[in-house]
Amino acid sequence: MPLDKIRRQTVAAISEYDLIKSNDKVMVAVSGGKDSAVMLVLLDAIRKRAPYPFTLHPVLLDQKQPGFDVAAFASWVKDHGYELEVLEEDTYSIVLNKTEEGKSYCGLCSRLRRGILYNHAAKMGFHKIALGHHRDDLNTTLMMNLFFNGRIASMPPKLLSDDGRNMVIRPLVYVQEEDIKKVAMALKVPVIPCNLCGSNGNMQRSRVKKLLKDLEGEHPFMNASLLKAQQNIRASQLLDKNHWAFSKLEELSDDERAIGVEDMTLNSL
Ligand code: SF4
Repeated sequence: MPLDKIRRQTVAAISEYDLIKSNDKVMVAVSGGKDSAVMLVLLDAIRKRAPYPFTLHPVLLDQKQPGFDVAAFASWVKDHGYELEVLEEDTYSIVLNKTEEGKSYCGLCSRLRRGILYNHAAKMGFHKIALGHHRDDLNTTLMMNLFFNGRIASMPPKLLSDDGRNMVIRPLVYVQEEDIKKVAMALKVPVIPCNLCGSNGNMQRSRVKKLLKDLEGEHPFMNASLLKAQQNIRASQLLDKNHWAFSKLEELSDDERAIGVEDMTLNSL
């Protein structure tokens, strides 16, 4: 199983984006799914070899969806050396009542979940909240934003919440979903299925995800390129006046022209 490979990728992300600092208390948001479960195992392995101390605190929110049984998952977490903290909040009924027929449950469901987890992290004094989004989540979100939301944006590896109370980190940004699946199977993660979304999937997201998967069948490095593009923004090749000072290009000195506008930021113009 590609455990070493994805551990190296996770170490790289942590180091390149300064995700975890000395003495950080990291809340690991586990959902009962494969991605966050594998993230917990990876972070634990990295913590044991890290040159500085930090602690991990797995927290799961039981949203009271029918059939959502935490017991096997909690016991799996315990076998990996951690006590799972379970929060209980019936967001299931709210989502069912408030979501229009035919619409995806995921938007409201994840907003409510985020609010509860963020409040808990602030209350408990956790310095970071680790989320299990991986490379393919980032790429899918990027394309969703391009196709349907009119913006170029994805999921950052490190994010300060709007109210400044929480710092979110995504240590798996370099990790492919296929590798996570293999590791999750090898580690026998007892995945808790989501019955709510099982009956009402996010169709647009699923279609974009499938599109990317199909394209990767023809172009094996396509997803790697999509990820790379998110680290390689050329503001001068886009149309955003807030990120490129088009009106000041005439004022460039000869030296600045020689360097090439590609290397210059808006502030330097
Ligand atoms: S997949 Fe299920 S748990 Fe996740 S946001 Fe959608 S409805 Fe909620």
